[in-house]
Amino acid sequence: MFRTKTCGELRLANVGETVTLSGWVQRTRKMGGMTFADLRDRYGITQLVFDESKDSVLCERANRMGREWVIQVIGEVSERQSKNKNLPTGDVEIIVRELNVLNEAQTPPFTIEEQSDGGDDLRMKYRYLDLRRPNVRKNLELRHKFAFEVRRYLDEQGFMEIETPVLVNSTPEGARDFVVPSRMNPGQFYALPQSPQTLKQLLMVAGMDRYFQIVKCFRDEDLRADRQPEFTQIDCEMSFVEQEDILQTFEGMSRHLFKTILGINIPTLPRMTWADAMKYYGSDKPDTRFDMKFVELMDVLKGTGEFSVFNEAEYIGGICCEGQAVYTRKQLDQLTDFVRRPQIGAKGLVYARVGEDGSVKSSVDKFYSPEVLENLKKAMNAKPGDLILIISGPDTLKARKQLCELRLEMGSRMGLRPKDKFSCLWVIDFPMYEWSDEEQRLMAMHHPFTSPKPEDIPLLDTDPASVRANAYDMVINGVEVGGGSIRIHDAKLQQKIFEILGFTPEQAQQKFGFLMNAFKYGAPPHGGLAYGLDRFVSLFAGLDSIRDCIAFPKNNSGRDVMLDAPGVIDQIQLDELQLQINLKN
Ligand code: ASP
Repeated sequence: MFRTKTCGELRLANVGETVTLSGWVQRTRKMGGMTFADLRDRYGITQLVFDESKDSVLCERANRMGREWVIQVIGEVSERQSKNKNLPTGDVEIIVRELNVLNEAQTPPFTIEEQSDGGDDLRMKYRYLDLRRPNVRKNLELRHKFAFEVRRYLDEQGFMEIETPVLVNSTPEGARDFVVPSRMNPGQFYALPQSPQTLKQLLMVAGMDRYFQIVKCFRDEDLRADRQPEFTQIDCEMSFVEQEDILQTFEGMSRHLFKTILGINIPTLPRMTWADAMKYYGSDKPDTRFDMKFVELMDVLKGTGEFSVFNEAEYIGGICCEGQAVYTRKQLDQLTDFVRRPQIGAKGLVYARVGEDGSVKSSVDKFYSPEVLENLKKAMNAKPGDLILIISGPDTLKARKQLCELRLEMGSRMGLRPKDKFSCLWVIDFPMYEWSDEEQRLMAMHHPFTSPKPEDIPLLDTDPASVRANAYDMVINGVEVGGGSIRIHDAKLQQKIFEILGFTPEQAQQKFGFLMNAFKYGAPPHGGLAYGLDRFVSLFAGLDSIRDCIAFPKNNSGRDVMLDAPGVIDQIQLDELQLQINLKN
């Protein structure tokens, strides 16, 4: 038997017991005639003691152990003289009687402790060593528990987990596909699913009225902290439901997860329309941990003074930062630089400080009368000591997005976005379409199977851009953790939506004929949603990047540096596939 106990479970109550432990040597220290070693396994760390005066040969062997050697020890649990308050096992130690070296180890390229000296790249290359660090391991434990509780909840609600294929053809989430050549069908390619969207809809036609799957999805997009080329969805679909049924069911799931994993009771999720989210937060995923809502200032500042930037603007909006009038000129210049960064793209920033006496001092003072500045203060509901920040621009959507970035920046600076505070909401009533400058056409905001709001269907012919969808996102702390929609289940309406999206009937038939045909055989009303598991878990774990809760993640160039993938393939494989590599540049 390799062990009778683990390194995380021994306490004072175990004193006097003889135990066998197995694990990795985190470090050794020699003090006088004693050698101490920290032994680590998945469950924790226990201190081992080798006493030279009792067994000098054993102690000598212990002194030769290097970091990360795999050993087994047999010894007696004893109370520690100097307790270690930082370790759950810090009250005890093992007086070792027998030592078996199970495997020696090379010195690892970085220290395997909570605070490692290894940089990101190095730790990714040796991810199997990185995963030995307790803080990294904890994220995977949380992820396991999370997925387990998802399954428990959904099972209790009558959902059935059904696997869908990975070798499919293009699915409609709007990203680039990863493709796989088919040897048996030379010159043809499978696409990996961007989501199981169409398959889960087919499962509804098949009568599996409550489906879910914890499933890998693949999207060939540029990567960011919250994106990986392969990621995991909690994908769900239900039949014979309306939007309300779905919101209730999945609000219940979130409540269950918060309760069982974090011990938090979350309040009923507020619902915000997409239009309001854009108006008050400039984002369809507002961070509602703090208020600081946008106030539109067109009436107050456009045409009421000589400031041409405002007079020419299509949008002027401000935020009121409580108690921040203390901001110095230098800090305000920094903020101006912040909004001018190319990623944000604002031309500039106007500010107004409200003094302790209530007077308003603004960077555009000279263009406005004191009455206008007073109106500004009122409109912003600003109190003495507050700082008003204003963004304007010729394009409302862009200006709102810039103000959104500024609001988030101020929220962070003011400490209003703590990771252990959670604010969840539903954003509902998304538009069906958004205009793509690149493609010069309307694109589906969610995906082409999303159903319009019944009352907006007549607008499909007259003003498609104003049609709202039965689509919803769950947002937590400014992160879109999930989203979905009620689907179209009528072949004719689906055909019409494809037309508006610019597909000819032939193209629609060729791409999605399988689904539209299925709809002719009795498709039930249905809808669903998918959560991004990695994002959801990262939020729960307070992580900055989803990579930290993925066992073997890819880097920003989509590479697995540990496996050195992607890589070239053998000529034999290419020949089998009848493919020739002819790189363009
Ligand atoms: N398939 C959608 C997505 O991946 C989710 C859904 O509509 O259920 O975003």
